[in-house]
Amino acid sequence: MNNYIYEYGQKLYINLTNRCSNRCSFCIRNNLDELNGHNLWLSKEPEAQEVISSLEKKDLSKYPEVVFCGYGEPTYRIEQLVEIAHYLKSRGAKVRLDTNGQGNLINNYDIVPKLKGNIDKVSISLNHYDAQEYDKICLSVFGEQAFYAMLEFAKACKNAGIETRLTIVDVLKEEEINKCKQLAQNIGIDLEIRSYIDKN
Ligand code: SF4
Repeated sequence: MNNYIYEYGQKLYINLTNRCSNRCSFCIRNNLDELNGHNLWLSKEPEAQEVISSLEKKDLSKYPEVVFCGYGEPTYRIEQLVEIAHYLKSRGAKVRLDTNGQGNLINNYDIVPKLKGNIDKVSISLNHYDAQEYDKICLSVFGEQAFYAMLEFAKACKNAGIETRLTIVDVLKEEEINKCKQLAQNIGIDLEIRSYIDKN
């Protein structure tokens, strides 16, 4: 069964793809086939209307946020993501995108104008303050270019008026965490330090 939508904690999540431009060393996909009893591996990527049909049966008012996040990078499905997000906004939901920040490279155009007005909040994996170290952790198909594109994406989201935060995982050393904090501060974006398995 394909779990295109699933609940975790208080929130509702949307799982659009298993494709990802990264192969992060800490990715929970490496260790867990299921999250809270939901198998997030897909045999087929959904069309937007399939997801919207499932959402129509849900009382969205009970979720503080609906989040695009699954076992893959949601921006691979930018067209479907925007269509679904637009529907969610029409139902009054608060919509968040969790992303590796490489959506502009993945799609080969600037996706931020499409997110504006449809996504309330974007949470972007910073992972490290240094491009070389980022590449060692993330193993992006775009190499070190991914790091710089991710930072540009974060700045563009913020400039577009989308609530933007960078995240790191608490497996980094204290000195590395402090440098990530400094980097985030330098570009005026909030940094969140999250635990290894955290979908808040
Ligand atoms: S970007 Fe996310 S989904 Fe992709 S490999 Fe890294 S942790 Fe996993």
